[in-house]
Amino acid sequence: MARVHNFSAGPAALPQCVLREAQDELFDYAGTGMSVLEMSHRSEAYRAIIEDAEATLRRLLDIPPSYRVLFLQGGATLQFAGIPLNLMRRRRAGYVVSGNFAKLAWREGCKYGDAEVLASSEASNFDRIPELGAVENRAASGDLDYVYICQNNTIFGTQFHTLPDCTDTPLIADVSSCFLSGPLDIERYGLLFAGAQKNAGPAGVTVVIVREDLIANGPARADICPTYLDLRVQAEKGSMYNTPNTFGIYLCGKVFRWIEQTDGLVAMAQRNRAKADLLYRTIDDSDLFQGTADPKSRSMSNVTFRTCDAETDEAFIAYARERGIEGIKGHRMAGGLRASIYNAVTMDSVGALTACMREFEASRGSRSM
Ligand SMILES: *Cc1c(COP(=O)(O)O)cnc(C)c1O
Repeated sequence: MARVHNFSAGPAALPQCVLREAQDELFDYAGTGMSVLEMSHRSEAYRAIIEDAEATLRRLLDIPPSYRVLFLQGGATLQFAGIPLNLMRRRRAGYVVSGNFAKLAWREGCKYGDAEVLASSEASNFDRIPELGAVENRAASGDLDYVYICQNNTIFGTQFHTLPDCTDTPLIADVSSCFLSGPLDIERYGLLFAGAQKNAGPAGVTVVIVREDLIANGPARADICPTYLDLRVQAEKGSMYNTPNTFGIYLCGKVFRWIEQTDGLVAMAQRNRAKADLLYRTIDDSDLFQGTADPKSRSMSNVTFRTCDAETDEAFIAYARERGIEGIKGHRMAGGLRASIYNAVTMDSVGALTACMREFEASRGSRSM
């Protein structure tokens, strides 16, 4: 069967060459006579795999040596607890609530201390990134353990286009759905983390990049922090306190190599910008489709839009499916439509979607006016 145009929000499309390579190597990895699936995580062959994944990621993002790179399990969600357990030393942190995942992280933070909402866009159903002036002012007081943001809001299709300037307060960012979509200035962050299944690999791997001094003294809540979530332990053990997601990390490494071979993150960002521009232009030029995020906050990864009503949204989803386009139903919290245009989604796929949108609109004739 031919492959579809896959706009799934996650787990999401992977580069075809990565899938093919993994297929080729599945039975006998590099002459070892076994699959990566069957290999000890302590073996020499596997050590080379995880070390190469980390080294490639360090080259891609230009990660300074003062930052540690971890490959953990439990999804981005487990880090919602891991972050306060490790970093809430004075039991006071600030959260920018810009979407559902930020809200979940804030709620988890509330279990471990005073988690303040510094800004929120919930009143307008998370259609934008809130103003950051109040966040920066609050950070400047210097009594927060960290300021937490969700840099790209996967469900609502919004993205921080500038980061809050928090001076000496560590900035913590969930970058799950924008990770590796373009360059990042790692030194702006105290810790950033990403569930891999959006842009970096398969589900079951969470990449954590953390400034070493923040974890050097062990977790803030050493009394209750599960050892698995102790970032100092995980750093000391090279992400192998227990058995890591061996196959998932192997696939992430292949995705990192693919980004490098396709000219790195600056080129990736240019391609992503072109894809997003085409899709947003199609929405803005249409009389039927409308974007749901404030234009200044629009995400480059997750494009949220809708037609005139829910019934027409459903009709469009069915129409698109007949043309090999999948994964465009909006999240149940946001409704409408969403096209996730992560790295592995090609311009060709975005072109197929925009052509389908124009055809659908034309097929409805004057009914849509
Ligand atoms: C998908 C997603 C999550 C949840 O990730 P899990 O790996 O399912 O825990 C958290 N934050 C953001 C921004 C996401 O896109």
